[in-house]
Amino acid sequence: MKKQLIAGNWKMNGSLAANEALLKDLLAGLNAPVCQIAVCVPAVYLTQCQKQLAGSAIDVGAQDVSAHESGAFTGENSAAMLKDLGVRYAIVGHSERRQYHAETDAVVAVKAQRALAAGITPIVCVGETLQEREAGKTEEVVKRQLAAVIHLNGHCISEIVVAYEPVWAIGTGKTASPEQAQAVHALLRAQLQAATSHADRIQIVYGGSMNAANAAQLLAQPDIDGGLVGGASLKAPDFLTIIAAAQ
Ligand code: PEP
Repeated sequence: MKKQLIAGNWKMNGSLAANEALLKDLLAGLNAPVCQIAVCVPAVYLTQCQKQLAGSAIDVGAQDVSAHESGAFTGENSAAMLKDLGVRYAIVGHSERRQYHAETDAVVAVKAQRALAAGITPIVCVGETLQEREAGKTEEVVKRQLAAVIHLNGHCISEIVVAYEPVWAIGTGKTASPEQAQAVHALLRAQLQAATSHADRIQIVYGGSMNAANAAQLLAQPDIDGGLVGGASLKAPDFLTIIAAAQ
């Protein structure tokens, strides 16, 4: 049976000292986890985290990857560079990148392709805004976002992780109800099933104000295969509680 994945997204938070303390507490508190675990950290801290987590049950992920292979792209990190550092995952298409960096579905699909080509698992984020939900467009939006990745990557999509992250739930304290989240996950699962015979092994994780109090209910839904956790991943006790709730 497929394991669940609990991935923390630290966003633009941390310092050498704070990261060391957080990871120390996480490692000390991990109690034979049954799920897969990752922390997606700012690029400048990848090496630090990779070193501290070497040989542990926690993998390291990046929060983005360049759509370009190499060359004159100042400030970018290529998939090959991330692989060089031992990075296992890269978030692509996070709503904050779509919103503040104008990342289109096409760019997100290329980023997923770059990650896959380098042997990094892209965590492909999809999700609707509040306005889109209220206009009844949730299904159309998430399917359009995922379709771009499917079309460019073909059979390789069996190697991706999908994160359903309703934009209105990210960092707002408003969580999708387990039923709302399950309904969208089921749609995404069906879309993946139509695209690959290996859809059942693709983890579809939920993100959006997942916390120690609501994780167990969300993670108990049949098509929720884990969580992408922002704010709560910065507090070791909360992140450990979410990990313990996973299957
Ligand atoms: C995220 O940034 O991916 C996220 C889900 O954030 P939060 O858990 O803080 O809503």
